[in-house]
Amino acid sequence: MSFNELFTEVFFLQTEHIRITDPQAQEGTLLRAAEILRSGGLVVFPTETVYGLGGDGTRDEAAKKIYAAKGRPSDNPLIIHIASPADAEKYAYTNPTYEKLASAFMPGPLTVILPKRENIPTSTTGGLDSVAIRCPSHPVAHRLIELCGFPIAAPSANLSGKPSPTCSAHVAQDMDGRVNMIIDGGESEVGLESTIVKIDGDRLTILRPGGITYDALCMVCEHVTVADAVLHQLKDGERPLSPGMKYRHYAPTAPLVLLKGEVDAVLTFLQNEQNQKRCAILCYDEEIAHLHPDKLFPIGARADLAAQAHTLFHALRDADRTDAEIIYAHLPPMDGLGLALYNRMIRAAAHTVLEV
Ligand code: AMP
Ligand code: MG
Repeated sequence: MSFNELFTEVFFLQTEHIRITDPQAQEGTLLRAAEILRSGGLVVFPTETVYGLGGDGTRDEAAKKIYAAKGRPSDNPLIIHIASPADAEKYAYTNPTYEKLASAFMPGPLTVILPKRENIPTSTTGGLDSVAIRCPSHPVAHRLIELCGFPIAAPSANLSGKPSPTCSAHVAQDMDGRVNMIIDGGESEVGLESTIVKIDGDRLTILRPGGITYDALCMVCEHVTVADAVLHQLKDGERPLSPGMKYRHYAPTAPLVLLKGEVDAVLTFLQNEQNQKRCAILCYDEEIAHLHPDKLFPIGARADLAAQAHTLFHALRDADRTDAEIIYAHLPPMDGLGLALYNRMIRAAAHTVLEV
């Protein structure tokens, strides 16, 4: 396919929008979605982490179309989605550590990196000889993959550089006209992308923290480490373990500043700033009553990390649509689900942390 053909095919599409509440009762619609994927088209589908921009994971052109639709560099590999944990063996060389992880966490928000088999093209894996595999638990995603009979390659369904979409309205903002179909399956439950682990024998390296926490992985595997790039900026010329780590992730138009300090000190700081600047604030629920309601985006109770994960990307999109000159948020804790929040927020803030 020439560049012009590819361009015309992914930027001037008539996108069909459908809503699926009951995958069993609406199987006919899902069959149509599977048919689109089988003939090389793109379908956005809901998962429990974020929405995925799907194409046939065994086809070279599908991967190229996904990269074009997202505006994503083609050396940033895609995750392939399977219907059952046992299917991993068809596309990768699995091992006993994989079996342990699969029985503990799959289906669910965990992606594993394994050596790939021949049937997965290098265009899907960004030229690597390993492949990222996930088995989603969302019933719509599950049934769609089952009906396809091939793995669905799917990155998050946002334009490169935007926050991952957690509802179909956010998908439509980015993908209308670029994909054949968008399936609305409600709000994503987890709200952050999957945990990615690289498996080397009985050792795991967390390349991206997510819904499956470090502590949960340690219950199943003895040797778990967190890749440096999860928490720190890459040094000049440093080669990351995962190509995605080197790309600039979502950064809001107004600078995002993360606040670190005692509860009362941070609140007093925010109250003062609100009176002096046009600021948007991603606050905890407990702070709502103490701040001006204008440009306030509550992300959940202070101790409720699951609620914060669920709401973060939605709140960031909303905050970015205001006329704020600066966006403030709390620096998340680094334990439990906090590590995933920390990883996403520290990147969105370009590592800007203010101690108050
Ligand atoms: P997304 O598709 O937006 O959820 O991002 C997928 C992430 O998985 C990217 O950051 C990739 O760098 C990472 N990834 C996918 N495949 C591999 C692989 N074979 N080795 C290392 N990282 C991978
Ligand atoms: Mg993404």
